[in-house]
Amino acid sequence: MIAKQQNKEKSKGRNFIYPKKPSGKLYNYRKWVSYVLLLFLFSAPLVKIGGEQMVLLNFIERKFVFFGLIFTPQDFYLFALAMLIMLIFIVCFTVILGRLFCGWICPQTIFMEMVFRRIEYWIEGDANQQRKLDAQEWNANKIFKKVTKHFLFLVISFFISNMFLAYIIGSDQLYKIMTEPISQHVSGFLSIWVFTFVFYGVFSYVREVVCTVICPYGRLQGVLLDNETLVVAYDETRGEPRAFLQKGVDTSDKGDCIDCGLCVQVCPTGIDIRKGTQLECVNCTACIDSCNEVMLKINKPKNLIGFFSQEYIKDRKPFKLGLRAYGYTAVLFVVLLVFSSLIYKRTDVETTVLRASGTTFQTRPDGSISNLYNAELINKTNKDIKFVFKSNNPDDKIEFIQKSSLLPKEGSTQVAFFLIKKEKNLTGFKTDVEFEITADNKVVSKAKTTFFSQPK
Ligand code: SF4
Ligand code: SF4
Repeated sequence: MIAKQQNKEKSKGRNFIYPKKPSGKLYNYRKWVSYVLLLFLFSAPLVKIGGEQMVLLNFIERKFVFFGLIFTPQDFYLFALAMLIMLIFIVCFTVILGRLFCGWICPQTIFMEMVFRRIEYWIEGDANQQRKLDAQEWNANKIFKKVTKHFLFLVISFFISNMFLAYIIGSDQLYKIMTEPISQHVSGFLSIWVFTFVFYGVFSYVREVVCTVICPYGRLQGVLLDNETLVVAYDETRGEPRAFLQKGVDTSDKGDCIDCGLCVQVCPTGIDIRKGTQLECVNCTACIDSCNEVMLKINKPKNLIGFFSQEYIKDRKPFKLGLRAYGYTAVLFVVLLVFSSLIYKRTDVETTVLRASGTTFQTRPDGSISNLYNAELINKTNKDIKFVFKSNNPDDKIEFIQKSSLLPKEGSTQVAFFLIKKEKNLTGFKTDVEFEITADNKVVSKAKTTFFSQPK
């Protein structure tokens, strides 16, 4: 019987899944979410804010840009903290809403279910037609459909590969690879094709295995979910004992599940949600849609499969946030506070001033004392900065040995100088000193160090 048919099929290498084309209210919402996310994914490397692309994740040069904010290698701690925030957020989100991220936001699912799978339905038809096509002998029709599908898969994989590289190396560099002779960008050119074939392999062959086996996030479910987590679940209290609808057979003493199997047939990971929460469930909600359609037809209330906590299914307890959810939210809040204060304190220019190693103080003929220093200035912006380096004590003098007044964009410069202090301004063997770096009459950076002199 079709209703009982599993949506998996034996193939030489692995079990291929033929999920039935989903439809319904939640699927329509997912489509809109995916359009917005796809638009963002493809446009973020192309849109520029303040001369920098909106999102850049250049791990090679350790340069990261988010909405105009540039993080250089010196800001790596901020980037690490941002990653930690994302991790805590995902953990917190999972404790409350299960694997909803996987089914609705993860780029793997968005591309697989909303791009590649839809092309497959368009060319090869719904699950049963696909199954038949794969089982039949090769003929002109099959060759045409398969070649068209895989050609389109390859073209889209090529676009995804370019988009992926635009995030990593930047869209300007990618444009150069595309427009300049290949001999000047051999590694870039090869990368585009390597990633094209990787994405093609993932979306045409590996597919849901990424979510069910490879992705470490999926493996974490067992640790993160608890009885209070809202997950896509089958309300067994209401659904069992299940019974087929048959003319003339009274099923009023049975549960609401008519064992039609539609929830299994639409599942992109090939599981039966009626067996309970499983690691393979990506919370795509396709089974909720299909079961709701069935409930509508048989005049039963919706949401036999829905977003439920185990506590609701077993004891009909309404949803409430558990202790763990409050705990993770509090941790998230604290880390966010630390991150925001660091961002607030972050300056466009970072200055380090160190006394030259192996030197001591010098007494000048006029009685003033000098110390020799080396300074390094780092420009974290994408604009050259003309600067003035001075001590914040107007009585001090600076005698440059190596002078610089231009800080190149995203670069650094060195300055070496004597700081000369009058004896009356010394507070002892060690005196705290502070330097200011000004640009356009604004202080853009400060640096503190100590000044050595004769013990008093
Ligand atoms: S849970 Fe719903 S969709 Fe699944 S078999 Fe039962 S009635 Fe059909
Ligand atoms: S069980 Fe339902 S929500 Fe989970 S992956 Fe399958 S169809 Fe999606």
